[in-house]
Amino acid sequence: MWAKGQGRTLGLGAKFTLTVLVILACTMAANTLYSLHTSTRFHEKQLVERGRALGRLISLVSPEAILGFDFLLLNEYTRQVSAQPDVVYGVILSPAGLPLSAYIDRVDPLVLARVPETASSDVLDLLRQLDGEPELIRLEFPIVHNDEQLGRFLVGMSKHTLQRESRRQLEFQVTALTAIVLFLSLAIYLAFRLNVLFPIQALISASRVVGRGQHALVEVKTEDELGQLARAFNAMAEEVRKEQEKLHRQANFDTLTGLPNRLMALDRITHAISRAGRTSHRFALFFIDLDNFKSVNDSLGHAVGDELLVATGARVQGILRDADTVARLGGDEFLVLVPDVTNEFQAEDIAERLVRAISQPHVLSGRKVVARCSIGIVLFPENGDTVAALMANADNAMYQAKAAGQGSAMFFTEEMNTRLHERMQMEQDLNQALELGQFEVFFQPIFDAVTQRHRGAEVLLRWNHPGRGSISPSVFIPIAEATGQIVGIGDWVLEQTCLNWAAWQRDGFAPGFLAINISRIQFRKRFSRRLAELMATYGIPPQALELEITESVLLDDHDHVAEELNSLRAAGVTLSLDDFGTGYSSLSYLKRFRFDVLKIDRSFVAGLPDNAEDVSLVNAILAMAKGLGLDVVAEGVERQEQMTYLANQGCSLAQGYFLAQPMDRNAYQAFLEDIRARNTRAVPVSSRPRITLAG
Ligand code: C2E
Ligand code: CA
Ligand code: CA
Repeated sequence: MWAKGQGRTLGLGAKFTLTVLVILACTMAANTLYSLHTSTRFHEKQLVERGRALGRLISLVSPEAILGFDFLLLNEYTRQVSAQPDVVYGVILSPAGLPLSAYIDRVDPLVLARVPETASSDVLDLLRQLDGEPELIRLEFPIVHNDEQLGRFLVGMSKHTLQRESRRQLEFQVTALTAIVLFLSLAIYLAFRLNVLFPIQALISASRVVGRGQHALVEVKTEDELGQLARAFNAMAEEVRKEQEKLHRQANFDTLTGLPNRLMALDRITHAISRAGRTSHRFALFFIDLDNFKSVNDSLGHAVGDELLVATGARVQGILRDADTVARLGGDEFLVLVPDVTNEFQAEDIAERLVRAISQPHVLSGRKVVARCSIGIVLFPENGDTVAALMANADNAMYQAKAAGQGSAMFFTEEMNTRLHERMQMEQDLNQALELGQFEVFFQPIFDAVTQRHRGAEVLLRWNHPGRGSISPSVFIPIAEATGQIVGIGDWVLEQTCLNWAAWQRDGFAPGFLAINISRIQFRKRFSRRLAELMATYGIPPQALELEITESVLLDDHDHVAEELNSLRAAGVTLSLDDFGTGYSSLSYLKRFRFDVLKIDRSFVAGLPDNAEDVSLVNAILAMAKGLGLDVVAEGVERQEQMTYLANQGCSLAQGYFLAQPMDRNAYQAFLEDIRARNTRAVPVSSRPRITLAG
């Protein structure tokens, strides 16, 4: 009955049974003692009654025999009395106390115990010896005739039989009682075990199961408190199960689309890897990214953006089988896992169907919305045998697809892998490039398109990599933008620009304006304040600086961009829209954010003057700029014909290898020196460049 594993603590069953046992034993013992006591008293009374009856009888019949001195008869009376059960003696005494007749049962156990066999047979002696015997009841009756006392009758009754009987009864009762108590205890214990302990034990084991995070229910067999407890437990277990399910859903599913989330997707890929590894099957992952989600969000609002994500998820799911997984990785990124892809053609086919399904127009909030996407494809095991490798490569392939243009899908290739590694290496090297002084600013002069007079320069960054030589900014700037390193680097360019300009100005050169390329990432970090600080420190007038901003900046948070542009405008610096024509080139941007200069990208200048498309585009830009009162810089002028054409079409400024290559600080200073020499020789003061600065 010891509770299992609990040392010396008593179990519930043992405690209960012990308590019942003690109560039962005490009650029954008390009851037995009481009944024994009352029955003894009753029998004693009966014994006395019997003695009295004998005494009264003798006192009634003996006067005649006494008066007639009939001792024979008296003896007969006493013998008869003594023959009665439990009578030890019967004695008739004369008024003087002399025995007239006596009969003593010499073999009565009381007499045997009290009176030695050798004792005298004198009656009075014997009576005296029996005096003080607790087991003896002595009764005395007067023998009276006509108011005259003729003598006394003494009778001694023994309680011996009575007591023997009581003892026997007690023994019997104790045995019976013990048996009853034991039987009852066992019965109670069994009933308790069946009705209480078993249900409690079932509850305990079910609780352990629930505690381990599994689901368990207990059978409800009764309607009593234990039944209610079982019901309450089941309700609680059910609640726990639901809560666990909810947590599981929250942790593994995307709330917006209801699709598996990144965590779940990674889990599915892990399973796919182990399954495919066992069966030497292949599978494909498709990394999908919406290209124009941000502009949908910005122009139509977040609610429509959300609708678009949900609809896209549903579309993708619609063209796949149940065995395939569609997950939303976050933002506008989705992942598709297709098990059992046997070859590239199959994967290609799926990718095509995905692109087609996603780019079907949607009608959201009453407006037609067309989503475009880029897809990166990887195959297991060729393109990676771990989740991390597959994901990284699919992501990389997706970026290549994105770079290739809207609505395209691309397989991961080894070449991408090499590029990825190079890129990672470059990222690392970039970390120290500033500290190690590996950057340098170059200056490419900008001229008046008509007079070809020097007007200023574009500041171009160079990275002198110790192992790889000079690395083009078009290679490392995108990386620095992706990692955020551009903020520090851009700041350095800004400071170098100010520093050099101030030095040249101080030394009496006419450096003209310096145009700096500003990344959208820099723009996000309180750029205008930093610029104002530097301008104040180096004493740079606003006309000396031109900021070249690409249209991508304008795609960011409109309010913040507008605020920054306004601050810059207020500071008086010139704002130039760089690479015009290559990006979104939305006229609405031109209207919304005021610029001073448009920079026609060199890709359009390249086709001048023969390529009809480039010609009409450049003409259109020039006409529009004229209408809006903007200056235009043509970039990448490499030939005389281009220069002539642009000058004739009214382009204000020009930059390109035909006019001057980008040059380092010293070369640019020499260039300025040369101009100064020529100007002092030939050019009258009035026809100096339009931008003339104090000092
Ligand atoms: P961009 O703003 O379009 O700069 C003009 C690019 O055209 C420069 O390349 C320049 O060297 C090149 N170029 C100039 N004239 C000619 C020509 O006649 N023919 C040809 N084919 N190319 C010409 P670069 O220096 O390699 O710079 C590439 C891009 O890197 C720049 O394009 C600009 O977007 C970015 N960049 C350069 N410096 C910085 C910088 O300090 N900060 C930021 N954020 N970006 C920079
Ligand atoms: Ca530029
Ligand atoms: Ca450009």
